[in-house]
Amino acid sequence: MSSVPVKYVLNTHWHGDHTGGNAYFGKGSIIIAQDDVRKAMQTETDHLGRITNLPVSVPVLTFSDQFTLHMQGGDIHAVSFPKGHSSSDTIVFFPGGKVVHTGDVLTNFVPANFPAVDFENDGSGGVQGVRAACEYLLAHTADDVKFIPGHGNIATKSDLRRYLDVLNGTVAAIQVGIDPGKSVEQFERDKVLDKWSYIGEGPKANNYIKRAYKSLTAKSSRER
Ligand SMILES: [Zn+2]
Repeated sequence: MSSVPVKYVLNTHWHGDHTGGNAYFGKGSIIIAQDDVRKAMQTETDHLGRITNLPVSVPVLTFSDQFTLHMQGGDIHAVSFPKGHSSSDTIVFFPGGKVVHTGDVLTNFVPANFPAVDFENDGSGGVQGVRAACEYLLAHTADDVKFIPGHGNIATKSDLRRYLDVLNGTVAAIQVGIDPGKSVEQFERDKVLDKWSYIGEGPKANNYIKRAYKSLTAKSSRER
């Protein structure tokens, strides 16, 4: 660990497991995040009831869509997506383009997990933002890029492709039933995610169905 003081802290989103360190770093570092991260940290309680609104913890420098930090070793570039894993998620490109921190729009476990969409709070998460972020990552990175996911193992581009295939396949399977007006209960009864039973069945699959369904049918209050 370096003994050099940390100048800047960039939060990928507002959940307590990703901003808890702000209480420590906020005393001496500049905390940077997307506008909604600051707003959510001040006004909401995260899905596990973790405290995020300490005055020292909330970001002091915020941005709407993109942000660049011009460091001596190169530029650190951050791009934000609404309606994804949370109301706003930021992915962070490090200098040289070979390493990207994805925040929780990507998790990389063995065995795999369904993409995580936060609907416990104000309902402004969504599968749409996770997809947009993943597509952006595929289009804007080199083949040998390494992704640092929000949880799980360091990921490659083929891990990301596999994850996006699951997202697109499951969303299509749910959307096809939304159009004629199926309810969440019908989706659960019909086991529409049977093809992905290697990822999860029963409550795990039903939990994902509920979140995907809600995000595909909801009108978000905080959509940008
Ligand atoms: Zn999270």
